Amino acid sequence: MKLLEYQAKEVFKQYGIPTPESYLAKTASEVSDIAKKLGSCVIKVQLPIGGRGKAGGILFADTPEEAEIQAAKLLGSKLKNMLIYEVLVEEKLDILDEIYLGVVVDRVKKAHIILASSKGGVNIEDVADKTPEKIVKHQVDPILGIKRYHTLWITKQLGLGSKKAGALSGLIEKLYKLALEMDAELTEINPLAYTSEGFIAADGRLNIDDNALFRHKEYGENMGHEAEFSTREQEAKEKGLTYVELDGNIGIISNGAGLTMATIDTVTLEGGKPANFLDLGGGANPERIERSVSFVMSDPRVKVLLVNILGGITRCDDTAKGIIRAREKLDTSKPIVVRMMGTNEEEGIRLLKEAGIDTLNSMDEAAGKAVKLTEALI
Ligand code: GDP
Ligand code: MN
Repeated sequence: MKLLEYQAKEVFKQYGIPTPESYLAKTASEVSDIAKKLGSCVIKVQLPIGGRGKAGGILFADTPEEAEIQAAKLLGSKLKNMLIYEVLVEEKLDILDEIYLGVVVDRVKKAHIILASSKGGVNIEDVADKTPEKIVKHQVDPILGIKRYHTLWITKQLGLGSKKAGALSGLIEKLYKLALEMDAELTEINPLAYTSEGFIAADGRLNIDDNALFRHKEYGENMGHEAEFSTREQEAKEKGLTYVELDGNIGIISNGAGLTMATIDTVTLEGGKPANFLDLGGGANPERIERSVSFVMSDPRVKVLLVNILGGITRCDDTAKGIIRAREKLDTSKPIVVRMMGTNEEEGIRLLKEAGIDTLNSMDEAAGKAVKLTEALI
């Protein structure tokens, strides 16, 4: 579960990690009142996404009037398709330097990794892409834990002087303890701002492993939050569909978790990028297939739809009927690539052929075709 920034910062405080003075607000007039108390402030949308700064979700104000105007721009509008219904109003820091500090779980190494960079801030993804050597990694030995000589090695790699190094060492120890005790899949401070008063967490992320939520009941209750986000995933949930949004342009419908994952992998291997995937599950009827196809195709990011079905209880002729009906109702000319085999395969292929939709025999061929068609369209 992804905690929101303000929730992550509450946890940071409990672990002795300094955070700026801040208050949560739901209306522009509340923001104005808070700004009277804080002076110059930063108004930050509270949504479970990163990159808010670049997307326009972090605004600055020097007076309460300005704060009210800025807040009114954010509250009630959408950022990355999510409704903004609360903002965190925070004292504005005079940032001298921005550090990145994170603790992630490396599932392959079965260990926590501490990540740190002296190039923190909103461009950290670019740093990771273009100059990965600027990100220092330390794999924590789970038995030994993290010792001062580890943290000092990290700060040395970052090229910090002794004053900063000492302060950062302490923070690394605290963040690691937090990651362990909170069962964090990821916790991150970006930027960890350096000001005249030392380090302070200007931003905060904390994703708790869902399987450990029973140990963190106080946050489990906040999950209600997620229900208020108007994402397509939420909409899918309400429609009873198993759907996950990704950031590419090929829509994927398949059945069964294994086949669905394999389809995504194949598309990726062929050089394509899935926009999403929908797992029909077992025993889908034409009505459910139609609903699923309509839902995936109505995403404007989807240029091509790839359907990969293994006919068992879900029959191939039913799949074909669902696809054809959805396409008629949507009245779309978006290409659909289908590969199906199993129960009533011949009938399904015949129906699709009649409707002008070709089917391919193998998953590789189908994925390859979907990728080529997409490339031709963009
Ligand atoms: P993100 O874009 O979702 O990661 O949101 P952040 O909370 O990291 O804010 C984006 C950027 O705004 C940060 O990287 C900082 O550069 C800047 N920022 C945030 N808070 C402050 C602040 O109090 N003072 C100043 N000067 N900059 C800030
Ligand atoms: Mn940030």
